Amino acid sequence: MPVSSYTCEAAARLGEIAARIAECRRCRLHESRTRPVPGEGDPCSRVVFVGEAPGRREDLQGRPFVGAAGRLLNRLLEENGMSREEVYITNIVKCRPPGNRDPRDDEVEACIIYLDEQLAAIKPRLVVMLGRHSARHLLRRYLGVRADGIMAIRGRVYRGRAPWGETIFFPTLHPAAALYNPKLRALLERDFREIARLARETSSGGGGYTLDNFL
Ligand code: URA
Repeated sequence: MPVSSYTCEAAARLGEIAARIAECRRCRLHESRTRPVPGEGDPCSRVVFVGEAPGRREDLQGRPFVGAAGRLLNRLLEENGMSREEVYITNIVKCRPPGNRDPRDDEVEACIIYLDEQLAAIKPRLVVMLGRHSARHLLRRYLGVRADGIMAIRGRVYRGRAPWGETIFFPTLHPAAALYNPKLRALLERDFREIARLARETSSGGGGYTLDNFL
């Protein structure tokens, strides 16, 4: 659905941010990108998924999570009664690192201002961090929590006051890590059941509930 069909304030704001990302030259990744990948989904959603960086297919299409990892993400969402259209999906870094290498710290530093702005516009109540890079950077930046090792922290609920308000941060494995590993796939499936539960609870929070009711 085009951004203009959404009615919340975040829709216009996300459009402006995407326009700036399209012009961005803040780091070297703009030199090798085909298309920037700002993010997509429902800007009025209270649930945001944050991956690491676009891969080859994402770079060609300008859309996040459209390759094999994206198909697994879609399936996990659907199996748990959600769809990618009803959440917002983005990455820490908006342009593909060449050869799908990990984004470097200076690239994350240059790019994360866009994620700051996207989250400030959406004001999510649940942020799902896909993989160790996303978990490490977001927990440190928004909650001041130092986290090493995704296996130690995945599936835990981190609750705190982010710059845009009370938010649950939920680290899980990157779908790409679970593609060919049944043990990791089982953990990811378990985490997605928890994500669906948290998403339901946060979306019913308008009826007089606060996050404290859920945790
Ligand atoms: N992996 C990511 O972290 N993000 C994408 O958009 C695709 C694959």
